Amino acid sequence: MYDYDLLVVGSANADLVIDVERRPAAGETVLGGDLAVHPGGKGANQAVAAARLDARTALLARVGDDGHGRLLLDSLRAAGVDTAGVLVGGAPTGVALITVDPEGDNSIVVSPGANSRLTPADVRAAARLLHTARVVSAQLEIPLETVAEVVRNLAPGSRFVLNPSPPRELPAEVLAACDPLIVNEHEARVILGDARVSGEPADWVRLLLAQGPRSVVVTLGAEGALVCDGRGVTRVPSVRVGAVDTTGAGDAFTAALAWRLGAGAGLAEAAAHAARVGAAAVTRRGAQESYPTAQEVEALCGAVPDATGRAAGGAPAAGERGGSR
Ligand code: ADP
Repeated sequence: MYDYDLLVVGSANADLVIDVERRPAAGETVLGGDLAVHPGGKGANQAVAAARLDARTALLARVGDDGHGRLLLDSLRAAGVDTAGVLVGGAPTGVALITVDPEGDNSIVVSPGANSRLTPADVRAAARLLHTARVVSAQLEIPLETVAEVVRNLAPGSRFVLNPSPPRELPAEVLAACDPLIVNEHEARVILGDARVSGEPADWVRLLLAQGPRSVVVTLGAEGALVCDGRGVTRVPSVRVGAVDTTGAGDAFTAALAWRLGAGAGLAEAAAHAARVGAAAVTRRGAQESYPTAQEVEALCGAVPDATGRAAGGAPAAGERGGSR
C-alpha cells in the first residue's frame, strides 16, 4: 500500500518578478514596477500541480530558514502537498530574479541557494518517503548526484519520471531508470547534442530512446506531445485553448502524467490527460497560480479522452486539436 501517489524530489524557488520598460544593459540601472513574489521552482511546481489534481503528493526539497522558505511552505501546504520532506536551513531559499519587458521577453538570474544543498545523504535519510510513493519524479534544478541517489534508492515496483531541466548530459544509470524521460524541444536538443537533432520530432524520440530510458515523451507546446514506450511513436494532440501564459506548462504536464501513470494508465493515455492539464494551465497567468483542479480540467476540456484524443464514446473531445504531426 502506498502512502503517496507521487513523491517529487526537486527545487523550490521564490520567483521575484519586476516589469520593466527595458531590460538593463551592463552598468545600467532601470526603474521598474512593483516587485511581485511568486512561489516557483520546478519541484514545487510539480508538487502543487499534482496536489491540485487530488494526487496524494509529497515533496523532498530544501528551502532556507527565511521568509521565502515560509512563502513556499505555505503555498505547498495550501495546495495539499505533504511538506514533511521539505528540509529547512543550510543556505538561503533559492531565488529567481526575473525582469520582464513589455514584449514579454525576460532576463533571469537564478541563485540555487538551498536547492544546491539537497544532498545524496538527504535522499538516503528520506527512505520512508521514497518507499511509500508509487511514482517518484525529479528535475535537474538540484544536484545531479542527488538525482542519481534517488534512482539508487527507488523501491522495487515504483516508477521514476525525469524531466531533465535545465538539461545536461545524463549518466547511464539515471537514463536507464527513466520511465519516461520527459523533454521539450530545447531539452531534447541539448541531450541529443544539436548536431544530431534534425528531421522530424518523431526521429528525436527514437534517438532519445536509444540512449537508454524505458520510455520517452517529447512535449511540443501547442502541438501536443509524442510518446514512445518502445512500441512505436504515438502523437498526443494538444487541446486548443486561448493561451495567455505558458510559464510552468511543462511542470503541470509532467505532474499530471506521473499521477496518471501511477493510477495505472498507459503512457499515451496518461499523456493525453497531461495535455489537458497543460492546456488548462496556459489559460491563466503564472505557474502554480495557473494549475487547475480536476473539475476545472473537465470544465475546460470536456470528458477524458482516450489515447487517440477521442472522448469516451468516440466523439471528438471538446477543443480537440486536429494534428499535423
Ligand atoms: P515546457 O513548458 O517544458 O516548455 P511545453 O511548452 O512543451 O513544455 O508544454 C507542455 C505541454 O503543455 C504540451 O505538451 C501541451 O500538452 C501543453 N501546452 C503547452 N502550451 C500549450 C498551448 N499553447 N496550447 C495548448 N496546450 C499547450
